[in-house]
Amino acid sequence: MSDTRQLALDYVGKKKEKYLSELKELVAIPSVSMQEEHEKDTLQAAEWLAARLTKLGMENVQLLPTGSHPVVFGESIKAGNDAPTVLVYGHYDVMPIDPLDLWDTNPYEASQKGDLLFGRGTSDMKGQIIASLAAVESIIQTSDLPINIKWLFEGEEEMGSPSMESFLPQHKDLFSADFCLNPDAGMIAADKPTITYGLRGLAYFDVYVWGPNQDLHSGLYGGVVHNPAQALIELLAGMHDEDGVITLPGFYDSVQRISAEEHADMEKLPMDEAFFKAQTGVSVLWGEPDYLPVERVGARPTLEVNGIISGYTEEGSKTVLPAKAMAKLSCRLVPDQDPHEVHEQLLKYMRAKAPKTIRWELKLINASPPAITNLDTPAIQAMSKAMQSIWGVKPLYRREGGSIPIVSFLKDSINANSILCGFGLPEDNIHSPNERLYLPTWYKGIDSLIHFFYNIM
Ligand SMILES: [Zn+2]
Repeated sequence: MSDTRQLALDYVGKKKEKYLSELKELVAIPSVSMQEEHEKDTLQAAEWLAARLTKLGMENVQLLPTGSHPVVFGESIKAGNDAPTVLVYGHYDVMPIDPLDLWDTNPYEASQKGDLLFGRGTSDMKGQIIASLAAVESIIQTSDLPINIKWLFEGEEEMGSPSMESFLPQHKDLFSADFCLNPDAGMIAADKPTITYGLRGLAYFDVYVWGPNQDLHSGLYGGVVHNPAQALIELLAGMHDEDGVITLPGFYDSVQRISAEEHADMEKLPMDEAFFKAQTGVSVLWGEPDYLPVERVGARPTLEVNGIISGYTEEGSKTVLPAKAMAKLSCRLVPDQDPHEVHEQLLKYMRAKAPKTIRWELKLINASPPAITNLDTPAIQAMSKAMQSIWGVKPLYRREGGSIPIVSFLKDSINANSILCGFGLPEDNIHSPNERLYLPTWYKGIDSLIHFFYNIM
């Protein structure tokens, strides 16, 4: 091991408390991007990061307007043209904290219990941002940065990154890089470092169904008017067959097949039926019987009803026949599906199946394409080696069921592949009450990032 690498590892070993208190500072800023009441707080988190980048010695630090929350940028390009340029990605926004009564601690006052740090954003992903800053700072404080580095911190990831698709092409030169390090994907378990090489995309819809002009008395009109709630549920129920296969016309046409080799790798992942039952509390799993559970959440597309609103749901027995019903639907997509094509497929389904007794409307409100990265790319190899140095085992490679729109936007705008890693765990309760970060893994994560930056030079 080179001396400079060891110096950086020694440095960060002595500064654990400092980085922990920085994380607490950042968690204390309630940067809930989707809630207007937190607009100032979200800006404050951006300003906090800009100041932190300046303190780190970055140049050209700035807040770039996006139409929504600003992007924080900073860079150090002193390593020169021969050295690789890494774009480090992070999002400084967090999910809302409700329901607050299910939290055991104040979500904005990070509190440590043993090896766990509780608070909103500790795992997703303020902790990962501080880990990246700590790794780079440890190198800068002990020698010269062997690579060029750029930072991109966005403030609207939890809203689905609505501005990034148009923002990035406008700033191609500023963000140009050989690849992006994105620590927003976690690990399978504390002793199993993980690299995520595939992400599902997302198509999100609002469906409206209207019937009579106004809510009706079910005693006077029940039996002659098709209830919009019932009509909507009938439409939703027809979107899967009894095996959980999605029935939208053409839905699976562009879905990439899972190779025998990938199937064999996925079978080895410690994510079997028992794993999913333990994680979710359900007694029986559901879904396409021809695929492993881990394939169904990573390599197969899905359609979910995210919410339904209609009629009377308060106390008592109001006998209403509602005038309208509405549902929120989302599809998780895999390569090579396209969210706009899925929109067309859902329209086709609705045109074919919607009864004449109702009027309906479908709105696509969020679209992000799926992404996949080749495992042979040098940056993935560098991360794999780094993780082995710290954990002593080869990382697991997996496909993630979630969507990170920025990954495909970066590929499209600056042709940069993303290395998806991160040091959060499945039991971190991200997006839920009592979000937490397991600190021993977090410290290991910082060390592995130091190795990574040296491995790619
Ligand atoms: Zn995140």
